Amino acid sequence: MTITTLATLAADLKDGKRSSVEITQDYLERIEHSQHNAFISTNADFALAQAKAADAKRASGDTTQLLGVPVAQKDIFCIEGTQTTCGSKILENFIAPYTATVVENMHSHGVVSLGKTNMDEFAMGSSNETSYYGSVTNPWRSVGRGSAQDPLVPGGSSGGSAAAVAAQLAPAATGTDTGGSIRQPAAFCNLTGLKPSYGRCSRYGMIAFASSLDQAGPMTHTAEDAALLLNSMAGFDTKDATSLDIPTEDFTASLNHSLEGLKIGLPKEFFGAGLDSEMAAIIETAVKQFEALGATVKEVSLPNSHLALPSYYVIAPAEASSNLSRFDGVRYGQRAAEYSDLVDMYTKTRSEGFGNEVKRRIMIGAYALSSGYYDAYYSQALKLRRLISNDFDAAFAECDVIMGPTTPSPAFAMNSKSDDPTEMYLNDIFTIPANLAGLPAGSIPAGFTQAGLPTGLHLITPYLQEAKLLNIAHKFQQETDWHLQAPPPADGALNSNLGGKH
Ligand code: GLN
Repeated sequence: MTITTLATLAADLKDGKRSSVEITQDYLERIEHSQHNAFISTNADFALAQAKAADAKRASGDTTQLLGVPVAQKDIFCIEGTQTTCGSKILENFIAPYTATVVENMHSHGVVSLGKTNMDEFAMGSSNETSYYGSVTNPWRSVGRGSAQDPLVPGGSSGGSAAAVAAQLAPAATGTDTGGSIRQPAAFCNLTGLKPSYGRCSRYGMIAFASSLDQAGPMTHTAEDAALLLNSMAGFDTKDATSLDIPTEDFTASLNHSLEGLKIGLPKEFFGAGLDSEMAAIIETAVKQFEALGATVKEVSLPNSHLALPSYYVIAPAEASSNLSRFDGVRYGQRAAEYSDLVDMYTKTRSEGFGNEVKRRIMIGAYALSSGYYDAYYSQALKLRRLISNDFDAAFAECDVIMGPTTPSPAFAMNSKSDDPTEMYLNDIFTIPANLAGLPAGSIPAGFTQAGLPTGLHLITPYLQEAKLLNIAHKFQQETDWHLQAPPPADGALNSNLGGKH
């Protein structure tokens, strides 16, 4: 099956080859017949009404580039009048009263919202296995291979978005990335994923996990599509105090710039023990490809990168424990059916409504912030964050882009890490530093392991240099076709018991 990109659909719409209603209908049917459990909900009436409106606008002369193109939305974004669960039982019945700014921005560009994609509960996870709405299968291996090999996870927390795009249930999707949740699933599912600079996309209406780290971004097949979608998502928003008041940029403008003289930095810390050897070889080959395009390569160092994981796993839970205190059975979503008094109501609502990983994070965060421990944990973690950020400043004095693997290993089997949180957290070892430093970072397809699994090349550029990152990714994609590979059709009976609620 050939890959359909946003750019192709936009061209088809422009040339009048297909209407938005036809395209939207087609994707809605695919979603209905798919077995990956990639969506938590779809709202066909809503999507088709948007598509109809887009067709009418085009007929009246509107030439907005993404007008009528459908996109899947991670279920962390509020869309007025539609169910928004964030992968949690506690928000099962929550109907958003307003729309997230990034979605609003996309809608004003004429983008059609196809439905809400599955995700780890409150975006906490790396495998999509913490979703209350069931696990998602990775289209690259969605069926078990004998009793010892379960289907593969799509990564997380934006696992539903990744599976949806890889299986062509949507041409592109939104994701959010607090510690790697766009890039790791993009790497596991052979996609292009971009976490923009902190502040580039508004967080208003995006359910908060760790507010100083959360950032929305595009998950697409190509860098060109990522640029197109980011154009429609980004922008200053007075409703988010951390949103950047800077002029809007056209991220497609420099896609074709030459890479002659580009200085690539390879941090020695990203190529040490723990990295799958096959993947190391794939990354090395990709880097050679850049040399052929005129880039030079040198070793750089991020000496404090081993402190990123411990720092993140204090800061993110600390912020989460505070953010999630609003889910108390009073203002949003579920409330326990029976309780004796107010405190009992809070306790029962939260005990019943949150899953184990979310409870673990709340407890770690509350502990790290409590008096007597605050200085020992939270303020220490903030100091490490500063050191990690300083490392990037020093490295970027010597290079234009940092490259490495996105993940230490390819997609893993379902149930293989879900009982071991520290093993699961190690997935984010290469992605977390960029979140702590607020830098733009992306993952692009770089090749396949012998078992046929995708490998992601990780790119990090200086603050606000998304356009540069996309230029580097695009030039690579002009020379390679890894990103155009589609997963093999599922062979045989799909594991139909994966879709159930926990
Ligand atoms: N896997 C990481 C975590 O569980 C990152 C999640 C994310 O980026 N939302 O915290």
